[in-house]
Amino acid sequence: MARHRLLDFNNELLTCIAGHLELEDLKNLSQVCHRLAVVCHSDAVWKEMLINKFGVGYKMAKESWKEMYTRKHDDPQHNRICPHLSDVNAKCLEPYIQRYHQVLNWLPKNLNCRTCGQNQQDAGLCLYIWQGNTRLRCRDCAYRYHASIPGRHGIMFRMNVLQMYCFTCSRLLGESRGDQSEAEYVDHLLEIITRDSELGRGAMERRKQCMDERQLYAHDCDRLSVLTSGQYFFVDRMWICSWFLRLCDGKVGVGPIDNTALADENGRLNPSARPRGAFSGGFSIVTPELWNYLVETYGLLGPAFGAEDAQGPAYDELHKAIDNWGLT
Ligand SMILES: [Zn+2]
Ligand SMILES: [Zn+2]
Repeated sequence: MARHRLLDFNNELLTCIAGHLELEDLKNLSQVCHRLAVVCHSDAVWKEMLINKFGVGYKMAKESWKEMYTRKHDDPQHNRICPHLSDVNAKCLEPYIQRYHQVLNWLPKNLNCRTCGQNQQDAGLCLYIWQGNTRLRCRDCAYRYHASIPGRHGIMFRMNVLQMYCFTCSRLLGESRGDQSEAEYVDHLLEIITRDSELGRGAMERRKQCMDERQLYAHDCDRLSVLTSGQYFFVDRMWICSWFLRLCDGKVGVGPIDNTALADENGRLNPSARPRGAFSGGFSIVTPELWNYLVETYGLLGPAFGAEDAQGPAYDELHKAIDNWGLT
């Protein structure tokens, strides 16, 4: 009798029910009849299970829901896949999109937090995406708002740099630590927010540049592979540090690169220059690809120094310091 009633449901409803079962029960149900086997083995069931068990409603475009479920199963602490982001979608973003474009058009004036009144010219104003509340806040006030009600899972959106932050997961979403599915979903949401204006699309392009440069930094700067290739360039360490800190903050660097502190009075690479450290005369080493990119993008003040400029006994100490650097 019960079986008959179950089979009266349409497939959508059956999928929904199956998505609430434990794996063992799902297996048993799939053996009842052909129709239930088809429902239980469909990818849509994994989508339901992903939402019911983990609260996650997104995945990468190219993968199945089952693959996504398996990865989320291995991430119980939400270190890579934030479930709270799943509550944000095109529909609930509507009031925030309006507010975002308003703020873009105000720039650069009137950037005060509407709660504490502090000017956010540098840090940028935030929206806390939660139930249509579009008050403009600084980061601290967004956090206080988040913390004021237990169990609230909104997402903070930093408007000037297009970053999404989850206070509950305590991390930036869609960045290097996160899963690729999270990154794709964040990009998808930011695309929706920014696409309706020239200024918005420009901001999205800068975000992309910033993310690409972070990849370049991770692979082409101060790595053992850069050193062992034998082909590298020296870059003023203070410039690299400021570039990297800005990238972490969601902003691109400020040019030009200033290499003058690396030259001696004859304009050659100063033999007492040393790797690492944020001091004058410190340097980073970068691949020729990164060097060319940086010079083209940010410009260069002062000389260019490559590995071939550090030949001869005068540079023995400099090379010793590079060898002792501990690059990985
Ligand atoms: Zn989260
Ligand atoms: Zn504030």
